[in-house]
Amino acid sequence: MKHSIYQQLHLPYLEAALPQLLQEASTQQWTYETLLQRALATEVEGREQKAIARRLKAARLPSTKTLEGFDFSFQPSLSERRLRELADLSFVRTCTNIVFLGPPGTGKTHLSLALANRALTAGHSVLFTTLSELSHALSTASHPGLVRSRLRRYITPSVLVIDEVGYTTLSQEQARYFFELVTARYEHGSIILTSNTSFAGWGTLLGDEVLATALLDRLLHHAEVIAVNGRSYRMKERQTDRASVSAPSEAALSATSVVPTGVR
Ligand code: ADP
Ligand code: MG
Repeated sequence: MKHSIYQQLHLPYLEAALPQLLQEASTQQWTYETLLQRALATEVEGREQKAIARRLKAARLPSTKTLEGFDFSFQPSLSERRLRELADLSFVRTCTNIVFLGPPGTGKTHLSLALANRALTAGHSVLFTTLSELSHALSTASHPGLVRSRLRRYITPSVLVIDEVGYTTLSQEQARYFFELVTARYEHGSIILTSNTSFAGWGTLLGDEVLATALLDRLLHHAEVIAVNGRSYRMKERQTDRASVSAPSEAALSATSVVPTGVR
């Protein structure tokens, strides 16, 4: 089968856009140079979009969140400026970690996802996981080779998001793997980590104070720790829902809203 010149040169996006480009060139009276530039730019653009889509799929982000979609006025403890600075992604280049600390519903996962999204759009590889998923993957590997290959999966990406540190305590083996991972990424790649547990509680979380100290030492050596100490946005949404239905009194609201719907 004979391939077109575009197929031989692997220019699928240019080939697909060509009829429209030629049409526009003639109606707009483009110069040859403009046509050539637009044609090549179309191919470059198509390839970039494909690469972003590939990185997005590999990143396994549970949902798409953006900084633009974050209501900073709801969380006054957070500096919008600081987050905008982080969004310039210099933390990825300097292998700096970001730790979001705070109670449930305050937007820690949202902000992590927003930064992760920025990073992969800018060309960095990203992987999202939770501490329990990660620990499970490593502790259920049936032989050392599989442990190593699974560890590598978490070591390789430029940005690794470890969500929900603190909701589950780790076995001795899992704590050691977590330590190994943080050590392997130390000064090699960024970790964005979220936790509802202050660092003082990590000894209990890992079941080993000495290991927790050594892990925190590496994690925090080059890190931005961001405390998010506001109200839960999930509660706000529930309250707003209720208010729009029947406008209940303050007392009714607090009576119905203090019970969390369960940690995610
Ligand atoms: P956390 O990880 O701290 O428990 P999440 O980031 O999962 O909280 O936030 C819970 C939900 O509320 C998500 O759907 C998130 O997008 C939304 N949310 C949280 N804070 C804000 C905010 N300040 N502005 C807009 N949406 C928010
Ligand atoms: Mg969360």
